Amino acid sequence: MKAAEIRSTFLKFFESKGHTIVASSPVVPGDDPTLLFTNAGMNQFKDVFLGFDKRAYTRATTSQKCIRAGGKHNDLDNVGYTARHHTFFEMLGNFSFGDYFKKDAISYAWELLTVHFKLPKDKLWVTVYAEDDEAYDIWNKTVGVPAERIVRIGDNKGARYASDNFWMMGDTGPCGPCTEIFYDHGPGIEGGPPGSPGEDGDRYIEIWNNVFMQFNRTEDGVMHKLPKPSVDTGMGLERLAAVLQHVHSNYEIDLFVTLLAAAKKAVDDATPNGGDCDKDSPSLKVIADHIRACSFTVVDGVIPGNAGRGYVLRRIARRAIRHGYKLGARTPFFHKLVAALVAEMGEAYPELRAAQARVTEVLQQEEERFFKTIATGMELLESALAGGAKQIDGETAFKLHDTFGFPVDLTADVCRERGLTVDEAGFNRLLDEQKERGRQAGKFKMAQGLAWSGVPTQFHGYEHLVVESVKVVGVYVD
Ligand code: ATP
Ligand code: MG
Ligand code: MG
Ligand code: MG
Repeated sequence: MKAAEIRSTFLKFFESKGHTIVASSPVVPGDDPTLLFTNAGMNQFKDVFLGFDKRAYTRATTSQKCIRAGGKHNDLDNVGYTARHHTFFEMLGNFSFGDYFKKDAISYAWELLTVHFKLPKDKLWVTVYAEDDEAYDIWNKTVGVPAERIVRIGDNKGARYASDNFWMMGDTGPCGPCTEIFYDHGPGIEGGPPGSPGEDGDRYIEIWNNVFMQFNRTEDGVMHKLPKPSVDTGMGLERLAAVLQHVHSNYEIDLFVTLLAAAKKAVDDATPNGGDCDKDSPSLKVIADHIRACSFTVVDGVIPGNAGRGYVLRRIARRAIRHGYKLGARTPFFHKLVAALVAEMGEAYPELRAAQARVTEVLQQEEERFFKTIATGMELLESALAGGAKQIDGETAFKLHDTFGFPVDLTADVCRERGLTVDEAGFNRLLDEQKERGRQAGKFKMAQGLAWSGVPTQFHGYEHLVVESVKVVGVYVD
């Protein structure tokens, strides 16, 4: 079953259960300062859960464009390393706004997976919140999942991938205990069941989270009861597609096949004298993932910059470019993937097709900018790496950032490939010192009446600091 069919089967199933099909909201949230990018299907309904907003329906279903590359749910560092994480993905969801609750949510999920998608029941595992006896009993007694495949899990134990059965969209906002469904990809793959020490492997992959929305967490950490218990679920389309297409990795599903081939071609074409990079390289997966995140963010109006969303976009784009560089590309290649992406996803997301030319241009400009400094930056980094140290010092990381436009997480990504780390504390100290110098320089220019001349303060080095210093002047005046 192709991804497009999976998407429509999901939506139609919930429509048949009285849900209204609602379009995806943009990846840039409209009016939520707590959120960098849309990270879940429930975001657009946040105020409905909180009781501030009312809709004509009490049941909804969506396929939501999500980005997890910053904030509470950040998967940037997982891409290229796990079979299941993307920075951009589609989340299939069903929602009850004070309508049905645990029993129906669980029954619907089970019916869809086992009857309509025909998943073998014995490959499905479920987790429930440690104290949620009600959910446990629904799974065990009503649905009939045997006790040995139901795992009770509490709050996050702090481990990198540790399951966490209390879902929060961010540090504040709607939240509640959840129950999750995992698929066992079989003994050939490393990893243990959820809640076991091996759970960070990729054998048992979480496919669906059903959250029982009951609280609103405010900044002081207090949990306030929501006006009505509600349901919010999210299932990764790509993860479900992997299961239904009998492949293990999300990157092997139909949505990625042409994108990966296009990435290989673009990289090979940009390699001097023609290249032939390894078609199974994790770098190609990173590139194929990142073109989706970058394109959809540009569609929604973000452009690469040095702060906020623009800086997240820049970090993702430059990370992809560096992976292409690693494979041999020496000239811009990344923007060429936009056409392949539009061919793959333009039908489901017409806004992508409509913005194709603009997206291509924005990414090409960013790429041309970074290609001016990447080679010298990589030389500097390589010579630092050749030194034999276990850690790249803060000064080198800062110079790479400041002079060559290497976001520190990009430097860390290169280091991680070699089993090394970056002294991020040292890097941050130098960054703070520079900001302070910028602030002082701003004050000085103010005193000279130059601040509003429109001429950016002249710093040597990386352009973003010029922009930043102008901004600092503005803040100072305020
Ligand atoms: P994981 O533990 O695998 O990181 P999660 O618990 O962070 O997933 P949720 O916040 O519960 O994920 O999101 C609901 C669903 O969205 C998940 O069950 C999964 O199917 C999907 N999903 C979450 N993060 C990603 C991602 N980075 N890429 C692809 N799908 C994802
Ligand atoms: Mg996660
Ligand atoms: Mg999880
Ligand atoms: Mg989860």
